[in-house]
Amino acid sequence: MKILLKHGLKRSMGGLAALSQRWVPPPPIPQVSVLMYHRVADTACFDWALDDWNVTPRRFEQQIAWLAENAECIPAGEVMSRSTRAAGAKPVVAVTFDDGFGNFATQALPVLERYRVPATVFLVTRYVGTHAPYPFDQWAHRNLARTTQESWRPITWKEVDRCVAGGLITFGSHSDTHPQPSDLTEAQLSQEATQSRVVLRSRLGDAHAMAYGFPMDPRV
Ligand SMILES: [Zn+2]
Repeated sequence: MKILLKHGLKRSMGGLAALSQRWVPPPPIPQVSVLMYHRVADTACFDWALDDWNVTPRRFEQQIAWLAENAECIPAGEVMSRSTRAAGAKPVVAVTFDDGFGNFATQALPVLERYRVPATVFLVTRYVGTHAPYPFDQWAHRNLARTTQESWRPITWKEVDRCVAGGLITFGSHSDTHPQPSDLTEAQLSQEATQSRVVLRSRLGDAHAMAYGFPMDPRV
């Protein structure tokens, strides 16, 4: 009886060992919160339908000051390499900005540098340095008469260079023209991603052509 039990146990253990060799545990899911900012602008204009993408410089600084004290902030490119957070560790947060407004350089950058918080900005490469509101910026088009140019103007390449020089800001792609993805073929989607990354790589280097923030809607 003792021998039979021993043999049975041995077979079971052998089966488990074989199973454990075949089974590869999935990689841990990164526990990172991604904050998605758009424009940082002081504007008296308030549009109930569209203002949910705006934050004032004062409110922005309050939020960044809190994050600097209470979270570990990382560039968006490091999100996938983070493993699960240890118990008791500070929350991990990636601060990101979509579209690339000039007010990122004039309003957000000084705050991020003051608190040493890294951030990633996703650019719509075709429109960097242009002088009209982004074609997809419904807020600016709808409220143009009662807003300042500073609230909607696209960032310039000179400002992008200044952001890069500080070492705290990483750029990524937000497509080339910010189309509505559901209107495009697979080939057109690929072209949008490829073209924008070619521009970023040639102007800023590989490190700024890695992250891709997909435009999910013409508005964002
Ligand atoms: Zn967008």
